[in-house]
Amino acid sequence: MPAVSASPATRHDWSRAEVEVLFDLPLPVLLQRAADVHRLHFDPTEVQVSTLLSVKTGGCPEDCAYCPQAQRYHTGVDATKLMSTEDVLEKARQAKAAGASRFCMGAAWRSPKDRDIPKVAEMIGAVKALGLETCATLGMLSSEQAQALKSAGLDYYNHNLDTSPEFYGEIIHTRDYQDRLDTLGHVREAGMKTCCGGIVGMGETRAQRAGLLQALANLPAHPDSVPINRLVQVEGTPLHGVAELDAFEFVRAIAVARILMPKSMVRLSAGRETMSDELQALCFLAGANSIFYGEKLLTTGNPDTERDLALFARLGLRPMPVVETSGTVHADIVVGATLRSTALPRGESVGGNDGGLEDSPPCTRVA
Ligand code: SF4
Repeated sequence: MPAVSASPATRHDWSRAEVEVLFDLPLPVLLQRAADVHRLHFDPTEVQVSTLLSVKTGGCPEDCAYCPQAQRYHTGVDATKLMSTEDVLEKARQAKAAGASRFCMGAAWRSPKDRDIPKVAEMIGAVKALGLETCATLGMLSSEQAQALKSAGLDYYNHNLDTSPEFYGEIIHTRDYQDRLDTLGHVREAGMKTCCGGIVGMGETRAQRAGLLQALANLPAHPDSVPINRLVQVEGTPLHGVAELDAFEFVRAIAVARILMPKSMVRLSAGRETMSDELQALCFLAGANSIFYGEKLLTTGNPDTERDLALFARLGLRPMPVVETSGTVHADIVVGATLRSTALPRGESVGGNDGGLEDSPPCTRVA
């Protein structure tokens, strides 16, 4: 059994065997280890809360087997054009009024065309001018595009590895693993923070789940946020009907992610709507400390805000406060007084994550 010291150094050289041994630990032992690591770097009673707006939905030319936004699958998702800056700004204002400090914009593109960059840059600049942190997920980026987005004021970029290198070819055929690594490199080189994770429950083996987490942990810099998505099966996509992942196996993936990337935000992302409160609580025990908040996660449902608020109250959790260091704000949402109460009036949401996401399916590369 590999040693996981009381104060583990941040490592980037995990072997597959080491990661698999962690996965194979008895669950109570694995949870204890993950909880110990979590407490070294975070207050375990705090959960970071994020929000997301789909600024361009559907019609994507890629073939990600899990995604209803791929135009080749018949999922009933209508493609939309890129939202106007003014419409995005309106959502951003709502988000800010609800307490958001970071605003994430997602577009279903293989990669932005160069002609799209000025429009997105305008959005980013306008959102930034509201005093919000900015985050985007737009597909693959060239070095020049990453630099342009950084110059426009983009703070974070989301780009997931999705799965392990050896299983990747079963899921996506229209771009390869190295394309993803290249985009992440361009984002880092441009000086932006990375949000990067993957999806479990796509029919991969435990060893392949270990491979995903190994690949994430061995990136040159651990992602600031590591979204771990549980597949949301959507009719019409190739992965509809795949065997459901055992709930405890999902918990194991969260715990191993926490151990491998001790200082990252490990985020419960797509698939949370179908998780019981008890499963979510187990995930928090295993070291998850970030969620997406609001009624929709790009194109699939996300637990109601009221349910989230009630769960936080029952578990004694609270949203991670904004921490300012050297003028930089860390944390996605400041819900403050709203979340100190246990529920919002029916129909009122936190985070401005509403109409723009109503009809859109899960681009789980986001989150
Ligand atoms: S996951 Fe993203 S890149 Fe893949 S098909 Fe969906 S929108 Fe396109």
